[in-house]
Amino acid sequence: MSTKLLTTNWQRLPEATVRALQADKLRRWLRDTVLPFSAHYRELFRQLKLTADDFRSLDDLRRLPFTSKADLLNTPDNPAKVRDFLLVPDRNVLSRRPSTILRALLHGRKAVADGFENEFRPIFLTSTTGRSADPVPFLYTNHDLANLQLAGERVFGVCGARREDKLLNMFPYAPHLAFWLTHYGGTSFGVFTASTGGGKVMGTEGQLRFLRKIRPDVLIGMPTFVYHVLHQAAEEGVRCENLRRIVLGGEKVPDGMRLKLRNLALELGARELDVVTTYGFTEAKMAFAECPVPVDETPSGYHLYPDLGVVEVVDPKTGEPVPNGQPGEIVFTPLDSRGTVVLRYRTGDYIDGGLTYEACPHCGRQVPRLVGKISRSSAFKEVQLDKIKGTLVDFNELEHVLDDAPNVGAWQIELRKLHDDPLEVDELVLHVQKINGADDDHLIHDLRARLTTRCEISPNRIEFHNAEKMRDLQGVGVQLKEQKLVDHRPKNSVPVAASPLRKEPA
Ligand SMILES: [Zn+2]
Repeated sequence: MSTKLLTTNWQRLPEATVRALQADKLRRWLRDTVLPFSAHYRELFRQLKLTADDFRSLDDLRRLPFTSKADLLNTPDNPAKVRDFLLVPDRNVLSRRPSTILRALLHGRKAVADGFENEFRPIFLTSTTGRSADPVPFLYTNHDLANLQLAGERVFGVCGARREDKLLNMFPYAPHLAFWLTHYGGTSFGVFTASTGGGKVMGTEGQLRFLRKIRPDVLIGMPTFVYHVLHQAAEEGVRCENLRRIVLGGEKVPDGMRLKLRNLALELGARELDVVTTYGFTEAKMAFAECPVPVDETPSGYHLYPDLGVVEVVDPKTGEPVPNGQPGEIVFTPLDSRGTVVLRYRTGDYIDGGLTYEACPHCGRQVPRLVGKISRSSAFKEVQLDKIKGTLVDFNELEHVLDDAPNVGAWQIELRKLHDDPLEVDELVLHVQKINGADDDHLIHDLRARLTTRCEISPNRIEFHNAEKMRDLQGVGVQLKEQKLVDHRPKNSVPVAASPLRKEPA
C-alpha cells in the first residue's frame, strides 16, 4: 500500500494547524502562480485592491467573492470566458522565481524549460456535463494530472481497495472526471481495473460479459446504471460471488439506493457487500470518498485532502461560512492547481451535516470531512417543477422519496400536457419498475401517500413497467446519464397555474 495514502504530513494535525498550513499554502500559490498568470483573478484582485499578502488566515478568504458556474459561461462579449481562468505563464515572471534560478544552476536550461512545460502546458481536459448549459472544459497540465492521480489513489485507499482486487469501472467513457479519476486512481494505486465505458459504449450486455469474465471484487459506476446492470444480471442468472464492494459516483446516492444495491448483490451470490460513495466535481479536478462502514451505520462522510484544497461550508443566503457541523453550501478553493483555476467556487451543492475536523470514527483518519446528505440545486433548476399544479416541488426531495420507497426499482417522472395539447394543464406521470412482487394497488397507495406528505404532489398516473421498458424510458445505454426526470411538454406550451411561490434557489 502506498505510503502517501492520505496527506502524509497533514494527517493527525489539529484543526488550527491544518488551517494555518492551508493559509500559508494559499498565500504562496496566489502570489507565485495565480495572480501573475490568471487574467480573471489578476483583474479581480486589482479592482478589489487585494494582494496575496492579504490572506493571512483562512478567515481572510471571506474577502474574496465567490466564483460560480455563471462566471464561467460564455457571453456575446466574451465568447471564450473560461479562458480567462486558465493560467497562462509569463516567461519573464517565471525566470525570476528563486526555484527557477536554482534549477537552472543545478540542472541547466533544458530542465527549466521542461519544468515549465510540465507545470503549465494544458494536455488534458474534463468537462462539466451541464444538461441545460454549455459544457465548460477544465484544462489540466501534467502537474494537475499528478494531482488527479494522487486524488484517485486516495479515493481508492479511503474506499478500502486492495492490490489483489479486480475492479470493473462502469463510468461512461467521456471527458468526465469520474471516468478519468477512476482510471488514473487505479493505475496509481496499482490495482487491476477494467473500464467498460458504460452503457453507451458496450451496452448492458457488454457489462454482463465483463461481470462473467472478470468476476470483479469491486464495481465502480453511477448508481442508476450499476443498479440496472445488476438487475439485468439477476434476471440472466449471472453470479457475482467475488463482489464485495460497490463504489458510486457521478450522482448523489440516496440511502434507499444503497440498500437496493446491497440486496441485489447478495442475490447475485456476494457474501457481504459495502456500498461507498464518492463526491467530486469538475471544478475541483478531484473527488473525495467515504470509507466503508458496517451496514446500518451512518455513512462516514467524505474525507477531504487539506493539502490540495480548502473546503468551506457557507450559508447559501448570506455567503458567510457556518460553524463546523452546520449545514450549508459547499465552496471549494484549490491549493495546488494549474491549468483552469477557480477560487471559492460555489458548487450549488448543499451538505446537511456540514464540515467536521474530528477523526473519522471508522478509519481513524484525521482529515476534514463533509458529513451528511448532499443535494444538488442544479437538478432543481433544470425543470421548473413549480409549474406543476401550482405547487413548488423540490426535485431533491422527490428523488429521495422515490429512491427510499420500498418495492420500487428504477423510476422516472414524466411531465406532459394533457392530451398533448400545449394549452392544456400539466400532467405528472410516475413510471415505476416494481420489485419484490409487490401488489399494484398497495404500491400505488403507498407511493401516493409518500409523495403527498413529503412533496405535496400527487401524480396523475402511476404506471408500472418491466425492467426492459424502464431501461428504454430512461435511455440506458443511449443517454450519458439515466433520465430520471423527463419533460415532454411542448416547447411552445403556455405555463398553466404558474406558482406565485416561484423562487430562484440561492
Ligand atoms: Zn473514515
